[in-house]
Amino acid sequence: MHDWTKIIKATTVADPATGAVNTPVHLSSTFNQASFDHFGKFDYTRSGNPTRQAGEKAVAALEDGEFGFLYSTGMAAISSVLEIFSQGDHLVVTKFVYGGTFRILEDVLSRFGISHTFVDPTDLDALEAAIRPNTKAIYIETPSNPVLAVTDIAAVVAIAKRHQLLTIADNTFMSPVLQKPLRLGVDIVVHSATKFLSGHSDILAGAAITNDPGLASRIYFIQNAFGATLGVTDTFLLLRGIKTLGVRMAQSSKAALQLAAWLEQQPQVTRVCYPGLASDPGYTVQQKQATSGGAVFSFDVGSAANAKILAENLSIPEFSVSLGGVESILSYPAKMSHAEMSAEEQLACGITPGLLRFSVGLEDPADLQADLAQGLARLNH
Ligand SMILES: *Cc1c(COP(=O)(O)O)cnc(C)c1O
Repeated sequence: MHDWTKIIKATTVADPATGAVNTPVHLSSTFNQASFDHFGKFDYTRSGNPTRQAGEKAVAALEDGEFGFLYSTGMAAISSVLEIFSQGDHLVVTKFVYGGTFRILEDVLSRFGISHTFVDPTDLDALEAAIRPNTKAIYIETPSNPVLAVTDIAAVVAIAKRHQLLTIADNTFMSPVLQKPLRLGVDIVVHSATKFLSGHSDILAGAAITNDPGLASRIYFIQNAFGATLGVTDTFLLLRGIKTLGVRMAQSSKAALQLAAWLEQQPQVTRVCYPGLASDPGYTVQQKQATSGGAVFSFDVGSAANAKILAENLSIPEFSVSLGGVESILSYPAKMSHAEMSAEEQLACGITPGLLRFSVGLEDPADLQADLAQGLARLNH
């Protein structure tokens, strides 16, 4: 079944009680038990709720997974998944990791004795060399935020399997429509569903998906114990947002390729990071494991001063954090998503002072290009 069909079937689950074509919002914290001896499927919403369950089944179906879990934010999903590890465990983590994940690893999990080593995931020998006797998992994010560095998922999975390690992949930037890491052997996929999955910049949500029943029960145990679950009204909005995921990703990634190719030709732009461009170092691997370069690119205008002029003079994109919405979003990673990192750490990850990230929405691409053209014309060079 094509993804576009699967998306609609997975998010449109009629209510057996009434036939309503959309899953009802079950605003109930507790569930009446008909029998004193035999309790029903649901008892308390932290442990399970029919609306959340519909959302969890939908995200699992989109990733070709068996088991899905929804959380209040992407960070709640990532933190909860990382809580399946224990004191003394070690993780090998891509150095191109989302700023919030970097903070959880550096400042929280380290206090509980879960250690990590950051590696350049494009250097597979260095990645394998970072594995220690107590390493339990390899954590990747591809393409990465904000420089769109591409990690070869199948190659990382091969290394992980050789050392009996789990592979965890943050698939936020591609969404399940463009890339399906579980098919490539990844054990757990995580998402900030705040971004493309919900798609309208209206809710925060996170997801985790796996095919392994043992892992699913460990993840469920933490979800229920820690309790960072997605509320039911937000689950309804997530299901509604996902319905258009196929058309949104197709249109926005087509427009992103067009804009990135045009930006590459502009004299004011010193670098474009977009794995859909043949000139990008990640292009070949991206072609192999994903169906497009995605809807986000970043580009360097040479200096912080130029980045400021451009940001102040564009009229279509929102200037804000986040990505994956129907509206285009321009952000400045050095002071926004990656402000947690020191200047040296930023530079080591390619986050230069002139770097801007562009998440392409559903506006007309020609209008976006004209807006960028008038903005670039104002830069000092
Ligand atoms: C936004 C984001 C997160 C965190 O998700 P929240 O919903 O903001 O908690 C994690 N990973 C990536 C790649 C992101 O872009």
